[in-house]
Amino acid sequence: MSDLKYCQGPKCHTYDTKDRKKGPKNNKRNETRRRSNLYYLNNNACSMQCQADWFDVYGQRALDHFGRITQPKVLTQDNAWRKTYDWRGRSDEGHNHYVYNHLTEERRPITEQQYNNDTTIDDQGRLNI
Ligand SMILES: [Zn+2]
Repeated sequence: MSDLKYCQGPKCHTYDTKDRKKGPKNNKRNETRRRSNLYYLNNNACSMQCQADWFDVYGQRALDHFGRITQPKVLTQDNAWRKTYDWRGRSDEGHNHYVYNHLTEERRPITEQQYNNDTTIDDQGRLNI
């Protein structure tokens, strides 16, 4: 059985739905949702509403804590690489893997191993081969 965790939406318990209702008749209460999959806010909120509620309360502080973008980030031909492939009809041929620069439109063939390697292109879009 997978682990259950609580929705992180600060107002989750205030939304009146059947599944949030707990307790005996004389002591009814609504509780924060608890699920194995929460889908929103990177698997931390049960709904788009709870995700929005979280951001309303904590978003500003999160930006201040982790640092704001204070100058423009720039996409140049050095960090405009993506991995992709052309689909081939026959499975025994394998796919035609390549890296593609979406600013210069340059294509360079790569192997399937390079395609599956997370370091071929770093998280900033720079080519490492
Ligand atoms: Zn929720």
